[in-house]
Amino acid sequence: MCDTPLRAPWLRTIARVFLDIPVYAVGGAVRNTLMGLPVSDMDLCGPALPETVMKLCEDTPVTARLRAAHFGTVELHIGGHMAEYTTFRQDSYRTGHQPVAVRFADTLEEDALRRDFSVNALYTPLWDITRVIDPTGGLPHLREKILHTVTEDPDQVLKDDGLRILRAVRFQAELGFSLTPAVLKSATKYAALLDEIAPERKRDELTKLLTADIKYPTLSRTTPPVPKGLSTLVEIGAWPKLFGTLIPMNFTAFAHAETLDTGLKLALLYHRATPVALAHRMETLHYAKKDAKQAYDALSVLQEAQNRQSTNADLLRYGLPAAQGAKRMLDLLTGADCVYRQASARMEELLIQTEQCRIPASVKHLAVGGDDLLILCRERGLPVERMGKVLYALWQAVANGRVPNTRRDLLYEAAKRWIDSTPCQ
Ligand code: ATP
Ligand code: MG
Repeated sequence: MCDTPLRAPWLRTIARVFLDIPVYAVGGAVRNTLMGLPVSDMDLCGPALPETVMKLCEDTPVTARLRAAHFGTVELHIGGHMAEYTTFRQDSYRTGHQPVAVRFADTLEEDALRRDFSVNALYTPLWDITRVIDPTGGLPHLREKILHTVTEDPDQVLKDDGLRILRAVRFQAELGFSLTPAVLKSATKYAALLDEIAPERKRDELTKLLTADIKYPTLSRTTPPVPKGLSTLVEIGAWPKLFGTLIPMNFTAFAHAETLDTGLKLALLYHRATPVALAHRMETLHYAKKDAKQAYDALSVLQEAQNRQSTNADLLRYGLPAAQGAKRMLDLLTGADCVYRQASARMEELLIQTEQCRIPASVKHLAVGGDDLLILCRERGLPVERMGKVLYALWQAVANGRVPNTRRDLLYEAAKRWIDSTPCQ
């Protein structure tokens, strides 16, 4: 393991702080290092209790912060780097996600059995990073790119924590691993446990799955990772636990959707759903309001673009980013199904005209602004409170090609509209 993240000087400092107390890197840090992939976060573990670790770090370059004492978790900070240390544990669960009892363990073998997958239960001693300790058969699984649980029978692992089902699907997509038939069967059996998982945890795993294709750009894969992961979620019956009754469309368009934001990816997935149903579902999964709005707006434009009656103003009223998002989705859909070609061509034309300022993208791009209308109002004694509505009506008229975007034409049109809409005295 030369030139690996495990060789970093800051980790060597941590190793020295632990003196002769064993401390190991575990999880993604070891797995990814063996695969030649970058490491997202550094997880350490060992038999030392949290309070011992806190003491060891006193008067050293390592700052220790107790995170969750009963889980045995301590953050170790040094020079802008952070590792999370967890005391060896044995967890016992009823069902769900949080262990009902946590018991610290003495051995690495016991600790391995509270983890999820064999490739995530590989340990490298920080004092000898050439070694990998493999208590659950993870090394052959890593070589064969297989994801299997730390126990022979996956039920023992998946029944304890429904989140592990989503983690399995996420690792399948991120790392290009295959789930063993036994894991798939067990995931199907325990998919209902996802009802007990907090929405934000499900959201985080789903987001990681949706961005799995960009996580490791150097990794070569045989199948497009995101469509594969999404199909697995459907196959094991986990889909309704995330999206209720919303039915996803086929996933072919996803093969080239790497650069879309998560909100747009979900809109792509649900391009036939009503925008409000999708936004509601996203909020139920605790996506940020701005992400739900992004999906709502872009999906609204996409659906408007398919309606031949819709005007330019209909397509631009959600804003330029929504129109651009809809165009990107339509391009991806066109690649998968030519019925979207016409809508895509229409959006393209519209965006080109907007870029060339032949169509104003919003009220702000009109040749007159609020100040001009205020003067008009004062001169003619018109009701100022209608100004916003008049400006919007002017923009609609210009966007739809009924009025040229010139100051003279717009002031004339504005006066007409104001007077038309002013109640007779
Ligand atoms: P990543 O590269 O995404 O960080 P990771 O495998 O390191 O992947 P983490 O979420 O950082 O994943 O967790 C670190 C380790 O903790 C895992 O490898 C696994 O051994 C263990 N772990 C994390 N979450 C669970 C869980 N829900 N059930 C069992 N073990 C878990
Ligand atoms: Mg990790």
